[in-house]
Amino acid sequence: MEVVRTIGQAREILRTARKKDMRIGFVPTMGYLHRGHTSLVDEAKKVSDFQVMSIFVNKIQFNDPKDFSSYPRDLERDFDYAKGAGVDMIFLPDDSEMYNNHLTSVDVATLTDNLCGAHRPGHFRGVFTVVSKLFNIIQPDVAVFGQKDIQQAISIQKMVTDLNFPVTIIIAPIIREGDGLAMSSRNKHLSSDQRTRALALSSGLKTAERLITGGETSGDTILSAVRGIIEEGRPDSIDYVSLVNYHTLQPIDAISDTCVIAVAAFFGATRLIDNMIITHDHGRPVCRF
Ligand code: AMP
Repeated sequence: MEVVRTIGQAREILRTARKKDMRIGFVPTMGYLHRGHTSLVDEAKKVSDFQVMSIFVNKIQFNDPKDFSSYPRDLERDFDYAKGAGVDMIFLPDDSEMYNNHLTSVDVATLTDNLCGAHRPGHFRGVFTVVSKLFNIIQPDVAVFGQKDIQQAISIQKMVTDLNFPVTIIIAPIIREGDGLAMSSRNKHLSSDQRTRALALSSGLKTAERLITGGETSGDTILSAVRGIIEEGRPDSIDYVSLVNYHTLQPIDAISDTCVIAVAAFFGATRLIDNMIITHDHGRPVCRF
């Protein structure tokens, strides 16, 4: 596994891989890796020959400077995880390699109006800008993103279509701890009491699944049940409990063909998100979370 810190070095290695007709798979991360991240590498491996992972804590996507400074970092641990997952190259740029008096940014309109977009001003602009830069640096054939950050994944899919990036986007399932908590680098910040209470997020989604597979379609009924369960976990605050159309990410009143229930809440200073995608198979709802 090569660890490269400059754009020049990365391009050189990738040129060699492409000369051998290798398809490039790419997994962008902010490090402090867990099995959620390595599952994305597993997905990439199914459709590509040379796996690139970036580790870059992207300052411009943090709307809260404290969140940036306290974001967990441990490169030695990350290298072990990445090596174990079969990553071929880690791209590990520093701030100055990525941002040198940059004046350009990328936005995806309307898809970022709601959910995290409404609560984290500037966050998605920072994400789309760094992902565009990384796509131009790595030039992957395929890039894998997690359903965990569903608004990010759907918006990046749209960005890639709108801006004609020649890359296929895969959205991979959420990897959870045994008790249902969605894996996240930020879970490290949870006290044991907060971690127990945070299970309310996935419990809320499980309740939604029960209601939906039982035939309930009313958004009000489902969301108030989910909110009730989350409140039992005594979050410090709830950012949103929403039902949105999968393609537009705009709020809807009832379960429709393809939609998403998404939740975000603070436990202490730690903001956690989770979601469930609802599709239909021969008219029967199927929930993926
Ligand atoms: P991050 O390092 O948190 O920016 O995440 C990098 C990528 O890993 C994003 O595409 C995330 O959606 C994905 N990811 C984070 N947590 C999980 C998880 N529990 N399961 C699957 N993918 C995840």
